[in-house]
Amino acid sequence: MAIRLRGVVKRYGSITAVDHLDLDVPEGTCVGLLGPNGAGKSTTMRLLTAQSIADEGELELLGFKLPEESKQARALLGVVPQLDNLDTTLTVEQNLLVFTHLYRIPRSERRAAIERGLETAKLRDRRDTRVDKLSGGMRRRLLITRALVHRPRLVLLDEPTVGLDPQVRQELWALIDALRTEGTTILMSTHYIEEAERLADTVLIMSHGSAVAAGAPSELVSEHAGDEVLEVYGPPARLAEVEAEARAAGMRTRRTGTSVSVLGVEAANGFELDGERRPANLEDVFVLLTGEEIA
Ligand code: ADP
Repeated sequence: MAIRLRGVVKRYGSITAVDHLDLDVPEGTCVGLLGPNGAGKSTTMRLLTAQSIADEGELELLGFKLPEESKQARALLGVVPQLDNLDTTLTVEQNLLVFTHLYRIPRSERRAAIERGLETAKLRDRRDTRVDKLSGGMRRRLLITRALVHRPRLVLLDEPTVGLDPQVRQELWALIDALRTEGTTILMSTHYIEEAERLADTVLIMSHGSAVAAGAPSELVSEHAGDEVLEVYGPPARLAEVEAEARAAGMRTRRTGTSVSVLGVEAANGFELDGERRPANLEDVFVLLTGEEIA
């Protein structure tokens, strides 16, 4: 296991941000921590980077115990923070150079590490541009590759595409995909269902600090939401009727603004209503298990 957490608890006063969390990240896989705002994803990430210390539980990262051996773990770890903390007074290349020093890359290997970073980030022709002159997408790509200069075995990505437009998000997904293909182990937090579904081998859904489900996206879908969903649209009174009927027939439902989704209709005997059938997806599972709507 690249990451192994058992019974991890982190409290802030009366708030339990992480509540007896177990998490396994096997080497060479990409695991997505998925949860609504306040679920405890960032706190979990901070525990892994030893920016916070757990109140209870065991944490192991690449075989090192946290927080005691966090220094050793840090050297093999790449961390992409949620907030862009690039040095805006420096150029693209200088930002990478600073990190080659920070990660103690030998002088003879620094040039190659920087060139590799520029290539991965597709920023070779921007090497001399100051960071404050880059677009949001370019900055994000630099932020990710800066965490990779020392070829870490494990990369932690905290909400890597939060607040970015869809096109930039696609570019970053391609970048993360390339990392996966190289065999880098990745733990990524996100509140975008599509991101987890697209990139993660396994997903851990968090709610109120705990894991409510874990598995491959397709397994989670068939386990919790079945194969097919019937989407019924109508005014609120009609939606309430549909919910009552579906529940009377022993079926699970979830509400969106304008429709009721009836889950697992493929298994229903004699339950027929006018609506649209569609395949179940991870969003159905997410809403069912966390009670949260997607923004
Ligand atoms: P997420 O990243 O999933 O949105 P967080 O880990 O940021 O969730 O937060 C989990 C809970 O812990 C929230 O209720 C949040 O308000 C609380 N929390 C996080 N950090 C702190 C802190 N430094 N002090 C007090 N409460 C915090």
